[in-house]
Amino acid sequence: MHQHFPHLIDLDNYPVSTWNSIINLAIDIKRNQHIYVGACNGRIMATLFYEPSTRTQMSFQSAMLRLGGGIIGFDNPATSSVAKGESIKDTTKIASSYSDIVVMRHFIEGSVKAAALTADCPVVNAGDGGHLHPTQTLTDLLTLRAEKGALSGLTVGFCGDLKNGRTVHSLLKALSHYENNKFVLISTDELKVPTYIKDRITAYGKEYIEVNSLEEAIPQLDVLYMTRIQRERFGSPEEYEKQKNVFCLDKRKMKAAKKDMIVLHPLPRVDEIALDVDDDPRALYFKQANYGMYVRMSLILSILNEDIQTQPLLVGENIPEIKCHNPKCITASEPSLPHSFRNNNGILECEFCDERILTEQCRFI
Ligand code: ASP
Repeated sequence: MHQHFPHLIDLDNYPVSTWNSIINLAIDIKRNQHIYVGACNGRIMATLFYEPSTRTQMSFQSAMLRLGGGIIGFDNPATSSVAKGESIKDTTKIASSYSDIVVMRHFIEGSVKAAALTADCPVVNAGDGGHLHPTQTLTDLLTLRAEKGALSGLTVGFCGDLKNGRTVHSLLKALSHYENNKFVLISTDELKVPTYIKDRITAYGKEYIEVNSLEEAIPQLDVLYMTRIQRERFGSPEEYEKQKNVFCLDKRKMKAAKKDMIVLHPLPRVDEIALDVDDDPRALYFKQANYGMYVRMSLILSILNEDIQTQPLLVGENIPEIKCHNPKCITASEPSLPHSFRNNNGILECEFCDERILTEQCRFI
């Protein structure tokens, strides 16, 4: 059905050795930028952003421009044929025939993978709903490598909207691959990390605890990853109102943190980090955003140079009689997609959004 391009939909598409090579190349690009000027001369990147973005979009675009390539695309679907009712599949198909790499963000979970199935060039997931954000994770890994000197042996606290925060999901999955990492998951009961991610942490032999006090958790952390409550993912304004302002990192709380703890945030910040933290040398979120440009230069180069080994997009089984029950999954709105499921130790998982299928639905297979 699809050609075998080195798409990046989930970091799991690439082996850990590839993540490490992308990070190493990013470090070299940052140090020796002049060597890479013109490395993508004559190549074109399309950025298709169906959801708001500042850092991801601009860092991808500046990355390509710094490499000498060109950019096309849109960040307001209302000014493209999307407004006329064109499907994600058709828009991506066309954009991929005009370009060498497509970078796409969409509000539906699994939509970027669905688009990649019929694309004519590699597709990169720049965020699909509340599901995943693999290039933010590459940014975070590069920041940790550069600022903590390692990706292992870290106690990492994640605080805020751990249910809907796609950056949290991708980073937790990735850090579970490295030795001796531990996770402290700080959230309200309503916004806990999804079970499939927690199972992944355990499957890789790592430990996590779930707590609801940032104040109590902070002294043990090497890294604090703050996140915004994802207002756009809530069913109603009332639900959001109940969750906003629960966690706020401020100067006073920072006093209880280790001298070398670092604070990261994928940004944008709303009010979960007080402005008085910005001057603390441990507050690295703006620097982190800058690392994002170098890691995206590295990713674009690695993909366009075909330096990446990747797996097929769908490896599971198409089971037409079973339907993913996540209403936010792309399969709920695109009936032509296969009902493709992975069998994870007897549990079926949707290959587009990772939702687990209720056992009653599986009884007849
Ligand atoms: N910029 C990040 C994202 O796109 C984090 C956020 O929006 O809160 O997921």
